[in-house]
Amino acid sequence: MRITMKTPLVEIDGDEMTRVLWNLVKEKLILPWVDLKTEYYDLSLSSRDATNDEVTAESARAILRLGVGVKCATITSNEARKAEYGLKALHPSPNATIRAILDGTVFRKPIRVSCVKPSVSVWKKPIVIGRHAYGDVYKNAELAIPGPGKVELVYTPAGGGAEQRITVADMKGAGVAQGMHNLDDSIRSFARSCFSYALGEKLPVWFAAKDTISKTYDGRFKEIFNAVYEGEFRDRFAAAGLQYFYTLIDDAVARAVKGEGGFLWACKNYDGDVMSDMIASASGSLAMMTSVLVSPNGVTEYEAAHGTVQQHYYRWKKGEKTSTNPAALIFAWTGALARRGELDGLPGLAAFAEKLEGAVRQTIEEGEMTGDLAGLASPAPAKALDSWEFADAVGRRLAGVF
Ligand code: NAP
Ligand code: MG
Repeated sequence: MRITMKTPLVEIDGDEMTRVLWNLVKEKLILPWVDLKTEYYDLSLSSRDATNDEVTAESARAILRLGVGVKCATITSNEARKAEYGLKALHPSPNATIRAILDGTVFRKPIRVSCVKPSVSVWKKPIVIGRHAYGDVYKNAELAIPGPGKVELVYTPAGGGAEQRITVADMKGAGVAQGMHNLDDSIRSFARSCFSYALGEKLPVWFAAKDTISKTYDGRFKEIFNAVYEGEFRDRFAAAGLQYFYTLIDDAVARAVKGEGGFLWACKNYDGDVMSDMIASASGSLAMMTSVLVSPNGVTEYEAAHGTVQQHYYRWKKGEKTSTNPAALIFAWTGALARRGELDGLPGLAAFAEKLEGAVRQTIEEGEMTGDLAGLASPAPAKALDSWEFADAVGRRLAGVF
């Protein structure tokens, strides 16, 4: 029986090897079972260039309108890509553009399979990282200080009024200085995105900062998280049997590697940058990491955390059947379909997504996997499959549960 949809998904196509796999996943693993309804946006580099990047903003507005999107990996243009694709201009990273329009937070969640053990042996459940993507050191002002003198922080109110001024340091010699900022609204949006995502995923939330040292700056983060939780989420968390936990960042790191996982770790920008790479590498393969962008009002975009797998694409263009792992792309689709099912009251759609995820895990756990996992799995499989063989192997198992 084919599964029908009500509202379309926003489907955002992309570049290189992931674009090849995008079609493979749809054709072999979704279209045979689902009457797929999507609103399609082509964010391939040439299409972005042809539309002066308008298509990127349009796709983001479509996600706001329809509530759920699924995105393929896209090339972020640079000089090399400009020459390769004969571009008119360089454009910002599509993910940054979409994130800004959705005011969203990115959550990265590893796909766990029993044959790939995390390097932290006590981890039993995934640790999801939510990274605040505004401000701090990423939007700082830095100054090289040539010699002795006073460094100050000065605030001049936009509407006039008294200036505020404090001394950062009376420098005794040459050195460096740095000024950072953040915005209450951005921190509040971040906190809301974290709590809403965690409720949906039924995960407790950890947030950590260094408010004992940074009483005003990190202290503000702590206060806002607490206020959003108490004012908007405490009851729903209690009803779901979930908790919010604040601790110092060093304590959070120490606990994370001693515990069994299974929580959302809301991180300040820099902590998230560092910790997401630590979690990704400790969990296995980049190809097994999913990424979800969630806006404060619960609008969601799903994608794989990896890029367009450029080197595999060049080999595919020469005729090679590459062993590129489509698991994270498949999970981007299942995440989006499940969310669509939940919002539209279509349990059949959500159930399909769960069965497809189950089929991917089962395929890998029964020893059929792509090369990136074959090198990590124990027991190691006799051979690695190419992407097409892998998709067929998943399709056979999915057919078995329908
Ligand atoms: P990448 O595409 O993530 O690939 C880096 C390496 O990781 C690959 O060469 C491959 O290693 C391995 N890998 C990643 N995904 C894999 C998969 N599904 N299966 C098997 N192996 C996988 O990063 P990149 O090559 O640095 O970036 C390529 C392009 O992607 C860039 O133009 C960048 O702008 C873009 N990008 C886009 C996004 C996004 O849209 N979200 C994110 C990151 C990068 P081996 O070669 O050793 O097999
Ligand atoms: Mg990083």
